[in-house]
Amino acid sequence: MPQIAITFPDGKTRSYERGVTGQQIAQSISSGLAKEVLAVSVNGEVWDLFRPIESDASIRLHKWADDEAKRTYWHSSAHLMAEAIESVFPGTKFGIGPPIENGFYYDIDMGDHSITSDDLSRLEKKMEELSKRDAPYRREVIGWNDAVEYFQKKNDPYKLELLDGLKGEQITLYHQGEFTDLCFGPHIPSTAKIKAIKLLSVAGAYWRGNEKNKMLQRIYGITFPTQKELDEHLFRLEEAKRRDHRKLGAELELFLITPKVGGGLPIWLPKGTIVRETLENFLRSEQRKRGYLPVVTPHIGNLNLYKTSGHYPYYKESQFAPIVVEDEEYLLKPMNCPHHHQIYMSKPRSYRDLPLRLAEFGTVYRYEQSGELNGLTRVRSFTVDDSHMYVRQDQLKDELCDVIDLIQLVFSTLGFKDFKTRLSFRDPKNMEKFGGEDAMWEQSEKDIKEAADLMKLNYYIGIGEAAFYGPKIDFMVQDALNRTWQLGTVQVDYVMPERFKLEYTGSDGLKHRPVIIHRAPFGSLERFIGVLIEHFAGEFPLWLSPVHCAVLPITDSQHEYAKSVCARLTQAGIRVELDDRNEKVGYKIRDWETKKVPFMLVLGEKERAGQTVAVRQHKKGDLGAMNLDAFRDKISKAIMDKSITI
Ligand SMILES: [Zn+2]
Ligand SMILES: [Zn+2]
Repeated sequence: MPQIAITFPDGKTRSYERGVTGQQIAQSISSGLAKEVLAVSVNGEVWDLFRPIESDASIRLHKWADDEAKRTYWHSSAHLMAEAIESVFPGTKFGIGPPIENGFYYDIDMGDHSITSDDLSRLEKKMEELSKRDAPYRREVIGWNDAVEYFQKKNDPYKLELLDGLKGEQITLYHQGEFTDLCFGPHIPSTAKIKAIKLLSVAGAYWRGNEKNKMLQRIYGITFPTQKELDEHLFRLEEAKRRDHRKLGAELELFLITPKVGGGLPIWLPKGTIVRETLENFLRSEQRKRGYLPVVTPHIGNLNLYKTSGHYPYYKESQFAPIVVEDEEYLLKPMNCPHHHQIYMSKPRSYRDLPLRLAEFGTVYRYEQSGELNGLTRVRSFTVDDSHMYVRQDQLKDELCDVIDLIQLVFSTLGFKDFKTRLSFRDPKNMEKFGGEDAMWEQSEKDIKEAADLMKLNYYIGIGEAAFYGPKIDFMVQDALNRTWQLGTVQVDYVMPERFKLEYTGSDGLKHRPVIIHRAPFGSLERFIGVLIEHFAGEFPLWLSPVHCAVLPITDSQHEYAKSVCARLTQAGIRVELDDRNEKVGYKIRDWETKKVPFMLVLGEKERAGQTVAVRQHKKGDLGAMNLDAFRDKISKAIMDKSITI
C-alpha cells in the first residue's frame, strides 16, 4: 500500500497507509485517545474522523475540550434531533440546523402545528432512543442532479432552494439511521456519543433570516457526553438568568432604559452612578500616580475631523447621521481620539515632552440597530475610560509594560483571577489589509511580545487580528460563570500620527512622528458594569457597593440614636442609609438582604444605652454587638483596602 506522511501538532511526522482515517490514527496512538476523539483537522479544515486521508497532511485530533469538537458534536446532535422530528412528526420540512456557541438548533416547517413543551420532551426521548442505536454517521459525495432528485422525491423545498445555490457543485449528503441531510459536515463517528440531551426552547425564525420569507419554527437544544456536564450547563443557564444585569439593574435601582429617552441610551440612577463614579475615581487615582493628564472634550465634533482620521466615511454605518449647524456638518463623536490629537497639536512638542498621556472618561455614540441593543452590553451611548499616549518608538515597550500593569491591577482589584490575553498581530500573508510601514510593525510587535513576557501575561498570538492601524493587546476575562468577556484593550497606532501629521522635535533637532497608544482598561463603562453586575450577581464588593451599611432602629425610641450613628459613619466617608420605616425589624432585615447591602446595623434599646451597634453581614447573619467606633474603623479599612471579601 502507498504511504502518506502525517504531521502532528508537535511537528513530528509518521507514515500511514493512504486512506487512513483520523479514527485509525487516534487508535494507533492509544485506545484511550481513540475513545475520546470526536473530529480531526486536516490541513486546518475540520473533517469527519471516518473520512479517508488520501495524501500527506498536517492533522490535529480534537477532543471535547476543543471548540472544533464541540461544533462537530452539536452539529451531529442537530441531525439526530432532525431524525427524531421526522420520526415523531413525519412530513416535516427542514431548513438549516447548525451548531451555535452553546448547542445547536434546527429550523423546521410543520405547517400549522406549533411545537409545545410536551413535544420537546417527546423529541428528547426519541433522540435518546435513537442515540442508543449507535448509528454511524456516513458521508456520501454525489452529483448535483442526483441530490436534486433525492430532495424532490422527499418533497423538501428548503433543501432544494439551498441546492439552487450550489448548482453544478459536488454535493455531500450525510446519513445516520433513517435520516439523510444535505450537509458539508463534518460529523462525529456515531450517535452513541450523544449521551445527555436537553431541548431548550422554540422560537420563530424567518427562512434565511429574511422577513419576506415564511416564518419557521427554530428548536434549540444542547447535548453533552455526560449527564453531569449537562446538569452543570443547565445550572449555569439558571444562574445566568438570576444574574441577568437587566433584571438586577432594575431591582437594585442601578440604571434605567426607557423608550421615552430612547433605546440603547442608559440613564444612571443614583445607586448605579455611585458604582460608576467609584470605578472612575479608582482609575483616576491610579492614572494620577502614573503621570496621566486629565482632559475633557465635547460630545460633537466637526465632520472634517473624522474625515482626517478616516473614521468617516469608512465607519459611516455605525455612526449617527451628521448634524448641520450654520452650513457646517458635525458628528456625535464616535470616538475620542481625534479630539485628543488636537490637544497634542495645540503646541510644539519636543522629545522631552514625551510620553504625553491624555486621559478622559469620554462619552461616545454609535448607531446600533434596535434589534441589536441589549441592556448595558450593547448600547448607543457609552463612556470609554480612554487614554491616548503619545510616545517615542524607544519608549513604546516601557509604556506598554506600564499599561499592562495598570490593567492587571484593575482586574485583580475586581477579583477577576482568570484572564487571557491575545496579542493581535498582522497577517504576513495579507499585508495590504494593514496600514503603516513594515519596519514599524515589526518593531512594535516585538515590543508588545517583550512587554507581554516581562509582565508575565498568559497570552496567545492572534495572527490577522490586528487593527488596520497597528497591533493590539486584547484582554479576555472569565466571569464567575466561566463566560469569557473581551474587556480591556491596548492598541498601537502608526496611522493616525501620519494622518494628523503629529510631530515632535527630536534630540537631533529634526521632526519625528510619535507613536500613539490607545488604551482603555474598562473599555466601555456601561458594558463593564453590566459584566460586573452579572459576575457579582449584584453583590458588589464593599468598596463598590452603592450603600455600605443600612441602619435599622427597632422602634421609634432609637430614632435619635440611629440618626447620630448615620451622621458619624457618613462623616467617615461611609455610605449609609437610615431605614426608619414603621415596619418590624425582621421585615426590614429581609428587605435589605434582597437589596444585597453588605452590612446592617440593628439598633435596639440595649445598643442605644451602651452606644454600640448590632452588626449583621449580608449572607453571614449576626456578627454580634460592636462599639460604634470600632465598627467604623473596621469598615473604613475594608473600603480602603478594596477587599473583595470581608
Ligand atoms: Zn450537518
Ligand atoms: Zn483612541
